Amino acid sequence: MEIKKESFGQTADGTPVHLYTLTNDRGLEVKITNYGGIIVSVITPDRAGKPGDVTLGFDTLAEYVEKSPYFGCITGRFANRIAQGKFTLNGVEYTLPQNNGPNSLHGGLKGFDKVVWSAQEFENDRGVGLTLTYLSPDGEEGYPGNLSVTVVYTLTNDNELKLDYAATTDQPTVVNLTNHAYFNLAGTGDILGHELLLKADKITPIDDTLIPTGDLRSVAGTPLDFRQPTAVGARIEQDDEQLRLAGGYDHNFVLDNLDGKLVLAARVKEPTTGRVLEVYTTEPGIQFYSGNFLDGTITGKGGTVFHKRTGFCLETQHYPDSPNQPSFPSTALNPGEKYSQTTIFKFSTVL
Ligand code: BGC
Repeated sequence: MEIKKESFGQTADGTPVHLYTLTNDRGLEVKITNYGGIIVSVITPDRAGKPGDVTLGFDTLAEYVEKSPYFGCITGRFANRIAQGKFTLNGVEYTLPQNNGPNSLHGGLKGFDKVVWSAQEFENDRGVGLTLTYLSPDGEEGYPGNLSVTVVYTLTNDNELKLDYAATTDQPTVVNLTNHAYFNLAGTGDILGHELLLKADKITPIDDTLIPTGDLRSVAGTPLDFRQPTAVGARIEQDDEQLRLAGGYDHNFVLDNLDGKLVLAARVKEPTTGRVLEVYTTEPGIQFYSGNFLDGTITGKGGTVFHKRTGFCLETQHYPDSPNQPSFPSTALNPGEKYSQTTIFKFSTVL
């Protein structure tokens, strides 16, 4: 196992940025940059042992800075949407940038995906990894409280990429952190043939700005039922109100996991290569996004054009707009408390 560090250029204000390559003993290689904590690539063997990159991304830092649709990054301080860019906490109303129609998305104009994190490599008996830290100052992007954030990426010899998130604050605030990796286990083409299992009986249905209505709705009898492995494309064009509102899958699936245990949330199998991705998490929700807003206007690694539905995200998190939804599990964090979440992306193959 090893970890290598090289330059990945610098940001406009001259801050140096690095690219870290983590390799395990079984042929898995993960590249991570401390700009946005972005997973730049994940190279895994297919069932015949042929290596391939299974994430969407860019070759250069400049492209991440200029045009990334949140490829591979850490999203925060609050992942996904907050309605109308407003929330009230302990009687105080806070205003956030409205960067997605009327709503605030993924932490605002300069979220955790666009900052340079401090990074420290490590090696221990579990694997090799990178500890990223960031101090988000009080008032940044409208959020209250100095928030001290740590994200630890560990690559193990079990072919797991483990993400341990932690945060503390000096004033009441809200926190919802996730990673926004876009996967394509075939390494090319669309993701419609990928077979998805999602361990969720319910979703949080959305309105026409993709904000949860506040209800929980059973997936039974709908195209959002992935309790049995089903190809992503099998029902994506069905005439269904929720699919129409989001232009495909872009929904928070409710995991039966309110006590924060590490559970299997999703398994994805790509039949032509045999690659399998399992997602384990301590979070109560997972946003399944089928890359509907990719539209062929962005080109990335090695000249790949990112057309509609050429990548999918499985973002483990608390439910969107939780700060405005009293019935959802709370995303408030108070001084003296510790926010934590763990997610594992585990790679394997089947015949
Ligand atoms: C959201 C999508 C959004 C995408 C990229 C996902 O987390 O659910 O609606 O387009 O991120 O920003």
